[in-house]
Amino acid sequence: MSRATITMSETLHEYYVSVAAHMNDAMRRLRDETGAMENGGMQISAEQGQIMAFLIKALNVKKCLEVGVFTGYSSLVVAQALPEDGQIIACDVSEEFTAVARRYWLDAGVAHKIDLRIAPATETLEKLLMEGHAGTFDFAFIDADKPNYDNYYEAVLKLLKTGGVFGLDNTLWAGKVADPEHQDADTNAFRALNAKIYADERVDMCLLPVGDGLTLCRKK
Ligand code: CA
Repeated sequence: MSRATITMSETLHEYYVSVAAHMNDAMRRLRDETGAMENGGMQISAEQGQIMAFLIKALNVKKCLEVGVFTGYSSLVVAQALPEDGQIIACDVSEEFTAVARRYWLDAGVAHKIDLRIAPATETLEKLLMEGHAGTFDFAFIDADKPNYDNYYEAVLKLLKTGGVFGLDNTLWAGKVADPEHQDADTNAFRALNAKIYADERVDMCLLPVGDGLTLCRKK
């Protein structure tokens, strides 16, 4: 009984994950391997993965775009939820991190659904637009370098079909967006982008306080 979002204690969060995030063996092992890495915190939460897999199935998604792969958890989850002829074009700049991703995609038998493009995502998205992919994607997920989020947002809006859905990760930015003490470039970029999306008449939006904040947009 509450008119506001519940505050999660560690105990409640543990329970939440136990009843809200399915994980198979490959997903579990990828979470363990990434968790032991120095940059492990960049991985999305298991519950976010579950939301994404749900959306892929609920929206009958076939053609996806991922901006920012890291070690491949979100692409693994999305690829598993896609039908056999589904496809993800995945953008990242890191050979090192995506080498981990590739191992798990192969392991889970979904590598054939993922087309990895190693290059700055702004270039890959521009190329996709030039190659005639505008208005063709059903779903996209943006979780890459924060200063470029607004560029990714605009490119993804062009690439998505009407009714297509996309997610942006980290939009609550560890709570810094709500604390005026934080005036660094990344925090200010998120404040500006959150305000822009909230007022953007090109999309329907919602912001889920899950993980580090997950904004979902539907292209009108
Ligand atoms: Ca993230």
